[in-house]
Amino acid sequence: MAVSLAQRVASLAPSATVQNSDQIRSLRETGRRILSLSSGDPNLVTDERIVAAGCRALQDGDTHYTASAGLPRLRERLAARECVRSGRQINADSILITPGGKFALYAALQSMVDPGDEVLLPDPGWVSYAACVRLCGGRPVAVSSLGGFDLDELRARTTDRTRAIIVNSPLNPTGRVIPKEELSALADFARERGLWIVFDQVYCDLAYDEFPFLQAEPGLEDRLIVVDSFSKTFGMTGWRLGAFIGPEPVRKAVAKIIQHSIYCVPGFVQQAGLRALELEAELLPRYREHFHKRLVPTQAALARLAGWECPLPSAGFYLFPRITGDDKAFARDLLDTKAVAVMPGSAFGAAGAGHVRIALTCPEEEIAEAVAAIADFERSGNRRNV
Ligand code: PLP
Repeated sequence: MAVSLAQRVASLAPSATVQNSDQIRSLRETGRRILSLSSGDPNLVTDERIVAAGCRALQDGDTHYTASAGLPRLRERLAARECVRSGRQINADSILITPGGKFALYAALQSMVDPGDEVLLPDPGWVSYAACVRLCGGRPVAVSSLGGFDLDELRARTTDRTRAIIVNSPLNPTGRVIPKEELSALADFARERGLWIVFDQVYCDLAYDEFPFLQAEPGLEDRLIVVDSFSKTFGMTGWRLGAFIGPEPVRKAVAKIIQHSIYCVPGFVQQAGLRALELEAELLPRYREHFHKRLVPTQAALARLAGWECPLPSAGFYLFPRITGDDKAFARDLLDTKAVAVMPGSAFGAAGAGHVRIALTCPEEEIAEAVAAIADFERSGNRRNV
């Protein structure tokens, strides 16, 4: 008899961003020079003092399982940060250390979504939200987030199967920071409808102006889950270090998932994370300046292209311009003819169609070269599908 795959996995599409990175890697292996403006991996080299802390821990014998919930000192440090962000007392027990923000999100959804349940998520939004919901047997329900969440749309799309809403600020792919009034309205909505509210703040440390945190909203203590990460903040994507923050029932459920799946995040990785937090005040202003210095001239150059609308985001390293014509054809033809990779906006949901995500995560000279190639592509009629 033939063997078969579980339906929820068989029907899952691969991650568009991971596929794109794999395609670029294969093209480079054939000797082609590709200018990549498509990766969400900031080209920051992890600070050598953070690397040294990880190496030292390994050399000192930190090669065993650690406490499944994470190192107490790291949880305490993260709790102290959360107190500042929320204006409330958050203790270390509320925090679980996870391998990246992605696992924190996935485990949180596993803890609250039964087969057939629905989860509201931003459109355009990060490619893994819908996939993680599907992996739990749930149904992702996309709601437009481009110019701001619309309460009427949210209400219209909520059913008695809706369990949660995912809120991401700053948003990937747009870089939009959700203003305080909108967060308050989302908090009211979650309370009114009895929903979990999952706040993905993995880009919050790269906000250029004041950043409103959802955890500062009153009355969410029983339903708010925060997804945090060291990846984008400290240039530590490959270390796989993040955190889940949430109230007791869901935290206990996530703790069991961690115990039975990954057991723990490696101790030396967590030691590196502790060092990163010690260096935060020195490193973050530098990293913010690093990306802002790229965003401003690149946005200005792209905004000058005929038919393009390119707002300047107030956080992160993504631009999300509206272009003319089909975004998938644009990304494909740009890669074919100019060897420049960008992500088509529709990879992030139907509302992203007609846009491209441009990630300023490669060296500055390459960004300038890629922008010149895009301008040339637009001028020279290379585009087949407008
Ligand atoms: N959330 C968003 C919006 C992201 O863009 C990413 C990564 O690209 C993540 C979460 C997960 O990041 P990590 O698992 O590296 O912490």
